[in-house]
Amino acid sequence: MTETALVWFRRDLRVRDNPVLAAAADADHLLPVYCFDPREYGTRAFGGAHSFRFEKTGSHRARFRRESVEALRESLSGRGSTLLVRHDRPETALADLAAAADVDRVWFQTLPAPEEVAVENRVTTALRDDGVAVHRRWTHTLYHPADLPTPYTAIDDTYTPFREAVEAKSTVRDPVAVPDLPPPPAELDSRGVAPGAIPSLRELDDDLTAPAPEDRAVHDFPGGEDAALDRLNAYVWAGDHLREYRETRNGMVGADYSSKLSPWLNEGCLSPRSVEREVRRYEDERVANDSTYWLLFELLWRDFFQFQFRKHGAAFFRPGGIRDRTDVDWRTDDERLRRVRAGETGIPFVDANVRELLATGYMPNRGRQNVASFVANDLRLDWRVGAAFFETHLVDYDPCSNYGNWAYVAGVGNDSRDRAFDVLEQARTYDPDARYVERWIPELAAVPPAYAHEPWRMDAAEQDSFGVELGVDYPEPMVRLDS
Ligand SMILES: Cc1cc2nc3c(=O)[nH]c(=O)nc-3n(C[C@H](O)[C@H](O)[C@H](O)COP(=O)(O)OP(=O)(O)OC[C@H]3O[C@@H](n4cnc5c(N)ncnc54)[C@H](O)[C@@H]3O)c2cc1C
Repeated sequence: MTETALVWFRRDLRVRDNPVLAAAADADHLLPVYCFDPREYGTRAFGGAHSFRFEKTGSHRARFRRESVEALRESLSGRGSTLLVRHDRPETALADLAAAADVDRVWFQTLPAPEEVAVENRVTTALRDDGVAVHRRWTHTLYHPADLPTPYTAIDDTYTPFREAVEAKSTVRDPVAVPDLPPPPAELDSRGVAPGAIPSLRELDDDLTAPAPEDRAVHDFPGGEDAALDRLNAYVWAGDHLREYRETRNGMVGADYSSKLSPWLNEGCLSPRSVEREVRRYEDERVANDSTYWLLFELLWRDFFQFQFRKHGAAFFRPGGIRDRTDVDWRTDDERLRRVRAGETGIPFVDANVRELLATGYMPNRGRQNVASFVANDLRLDWRVGAAFFETHLVDYDPCSNYGNWAYVAGVGNDSRDRAFDVLEQARTYDPDARYVERWIPELAAVPPAYAHEPWRMDAAEQDSFGVELGVDYPEPMVRLDS
């Protein structure tokens, strides 16, 4: 009997090291499908206690995702297959397709955050009700959960013991080979199964428009698997930057102070195991040092949050986080939130980072830590509103990395130590010549570095001589951080 498999692509938009695709390709016929789920776009409620509204996916990530799906479609076509695209809820679209194409089994990637789990549970129910076999596979971390020293339910809530246990006892599995792909089922057209168009940004959400080109962006972040491999090659091999990653990773300006692989890792255009493979090859062929280790150390942070979300689930989205803290009175203040989100707080280091995020979809790690700390620790605004603002705009948004890091900085997550940052001290340390602030806040371009991070220290004559009037050209600080 011939067998037809359907592979539902989620955040695994690649053919290399894709265990779901490799397993599904054992069938006689293969139907690859991607669904743009309408619930992922537009404005919606956060949900739970003290809910608020936010835009789920902004134009930077929507643009990146569309390009990644387009690239996957081309890549599958080149291998004799066809990616079907639907703008519909997966539980509806996949059940319809399975019925129309006589699908026997469906394969897909399982993800740990509650919304993703809820969708895959609905898909599973809809398909099983129709007699279709369903297979989920965990494919997006460096280490497979089955290879951890303990079940994920028992992993430590603090990173260092988790890391030490994993480094001592676990190994990374080999990437899986690209499979030969079986053809699609015959006569799809006559069964009413059309390939389906990739929806435009406007079709995804009336409010989305193509992001304007931005000369100051650290990278263009083109979507797709080939673009991911180009970036990996450019960073590791052609640019030879990996050898100094540990020293440069806290940088603020330029493409190469860090790998910039996060958007491709998060949409699954690139697997972390493929990155590890390249790091090991680089260590064999060029140099093995603290920097080569440190990139893997950071990928393990990514794993840590994925496993943490698997363990704690929705508790991560509560104001008191996984620690269920009730001793912090998280405030809501619309005007203060507006100023943060517009990059008009009057604290240049915070504003510069927010403006980079709005213009490009990216923010350096050091900036993310400081903006999160400013919102959660200096302003005591509901940290989840800040995290949701990042969710909208980040090109590399991932629920576990984003909400996990925000909770960590806000003191409600995986570390009980005080994680508040001294934002002015950080600005002076990581942007000592104020090049970053000048780049993103042109109003302050003529202000000397000694004042650029604290323009409120200028008297009226100095403001006049540097061409900026506080409260007119650039805001007065909304809070005093230096008092
Ligand atoms: C408040 C806050 C929110 C964040 N939100 C996200 C998010 O939504 N998506 C996201 O991918 N990262 C997030 N990060 C982590 C980190 O800032 C980004 O992964 C990093 O800046 C991406 O740039 P890069 O690829 O050049 O990183 P590199 O420094 O080159 O690191 C390599 C890879 O390691 C992983 N990584 C590095 N640091 C972390 C970390 N702290 N947590 C988890 N993974 C890490 C990423 O996959 C990254 O691509 C957040 C950090 C903070 C403090």
